[in-house]
Amino acid sequence: MKVLVTDTISETGVDLLRREKDFQVEVRPSMSREELLQVVADVDGMMTRSGTPLDGEVLAAAKRLRVVARAGVGVDNIDIGEASRRGVVIINAPTGNTLAATEHTMALMLSLVRRVPQAWQSVGRGEWKRSRFMGMQLSGKRLLIVGLGRIGTQIAQRCRAFGMEILAYDPYITAAKAERAGVRLLDDLTGGLALADVVTLHVPLTGETRGMIGARQLKACKPGAYLVNCARGGLVDEQACAEAVRSGHLTGVAFDVYDGEPPRADNPLFAEDIRDRVVLTPHIGANTEEAQSAVAVIAATNLAAALLGRPYEHAVNLPFSETQLSDEKRNYLSLARKMGYLAAHLLRDPVKECKVTLRGPLFSSGDEPVCFEVPYHYSPFTIAGLKGLLEFSHGPEVNYMSAPLLAADKGIVVEEGRTESGTYRNLVEMTLVTTSGAHEGVTLAGTITEEGRQRVVNIDGYWIDFVPEGVVLLFNNHDRPGVIGKVGSLLGAAGSNIANFALGRKNGSGLAVGALQIDNDVPDSVIEAFREDADLIWAVKVNFSEFHS
Ligand code: NAD
Repeated sequence: MKVLVTDTISETGVDLLRREKDFQVEVRPSMSREELLQVVADVDGMMTRSGTPLDGEVLAAAKRLRVVARAGVGVDNIDIGEASRRGVVIINAPTGNTLAATEHTMALMLSLVRRVPQAWQSVGRGEWKRSRFMGMQLSGKRLLIVGLGRIGTQIAQRCRAFGMEILAYDPYITAAKAERAGVRLLDDLTGGLALADVVTLHVPLTGETRGMIGARQLKACKPGAYLVNCARGGLVDEQACAEAVRSGHLTGVAFDVYDGEPPRADNPLFAEDIRDRVVLTPHIGANTEEAQSAVAVIAATNLAAALLGRPYEHAVNLPFSETQLSDEKRNYLSLARKMGYLAAHLLRDPVKECKVTLRGPLFSSGDEPVCFEVPYHYSPFTIAGLKGLLEFSHGPEVNYMSAPLLAADKGIVVEEGRTESGTYRNLVEMTLVTTSGAHEGVTLAGTITEEGRQRVVNIDGYWIDFVPEGVVLLFNNHDRPGVIGKVGSLLGAAGSNIANFALGRKNGSGLAVGALQIDNDVPDSVIEAFREDADLIWAVKVNFSEFHS
């Protein structure tokens, strides 16, 4: 098999490939596009970094290509949809740079509170102004970690060693995990911001986390606090952040990542008047020899395993061959993923159980082809439901392979059943139970019509019927006159047109569930107004168009 290594990749990883006797390894780090289009024609596997664009044209030219391993996390340079359609497995290495990003966060935090870069610049100018560089001690201070995943947990460990009191905000982890990490888990971000001397962000960039630290949250910060962002640009409103530093409300901020990279010269964080209290680095969180070597080893090991038919991890696209599923089953796969994503919007607490029931003749044989060896035995529909559920909190980097592993890591017990159909010929049911009690959670059911349209037909016992596409507003209301009129006027005032409307009642409950499909997205403030003005029990907006293909 021919394996092509493009970009400069740590030798430790390349050597692993060379040691496989069935591989002929070619290392071509800086090819022109024309060369790349020619060279890929007969390769079976590729190892790349972000410098190699694997777009539709390159993938079409790579006729024999089966597996691509990215020595790193981001896969923005690869057309995942096209690769999946062509049956090319894309693998990344999300765990290799955890420690590098952790240590860089520590470097930023310490530089920030002791103003190391500014002090160095001052000394470099020949000055000796010791009293100008009065800093803050970390020991005895409160740290708020937003996102207690791989990196957040490592930060907690190190900052405890620094004598800090650690708080964390992460609505998707259990109290037990927080306890293991030695942190106090909060259920309210704003409350945590008001308490913390230092805030550090470690969440993925998702529809929910984009702009999560805006003017309102900055205002809620404890006066004099510090903010560190070594996670993803786009989490923080950079303009509002610069203003908070300028006004003195925040003492200082440190960023490794920016909303749009490289940042433009007029980025508000570059302003001359706040330079003294800002520490900026050019997205170098993962840049250590060890991390580059670790990601290369992870990528090479999994690339070799995938090509040689051995179990492997971190596939970004599919653990089963979607192309071998019938059109109808593929449609159910997509529906199950949307149901998981929808359910995540309706839950308040971490999930502890996920039960998927597949009803009807379509599912009775259970013969969906699973092409790769994976350490679990769920149907593609259950995996898709878990992926949708976890994408809400972990972003699009959750893949079909990692979703069940991530669920297990979070302590979610997965159950799957197949049974006969009832009212609908075929139906997928999904029940999610949360940690707050046996009866807390949500149950959804979905089907595909004769015409091949996806439908969600039941939410928590309310029979309803809507298409999970575009932007859908869902709400639970008291079943009395006037509610729908109010909702319509609020949307009208926000300039959004209702494309479709469905309502479901539950006998004897005096309550109803509504689903509105709207033509264009509305800001979250409209949903807030929606909830209050129309006296709704709950209301959520689900943007199904956020999904990657
Ligand atoms: P992870 O998936 O292990 O952890 C993310 C955590 O965020 C999860 O526990 C999740 O429950 C939590 N979360 C999701 N939505 C949340 C929300 N709305 N509020 C609070 N918590 C929420 O990810 P990780 O490996 O720890 O990486 C964290 C971040 O660091 C990611 O954005 C990653 O891309 C970034 N990163 C940056 C660099 C760099 O070079 N600067 C390097 C590596 C990773």
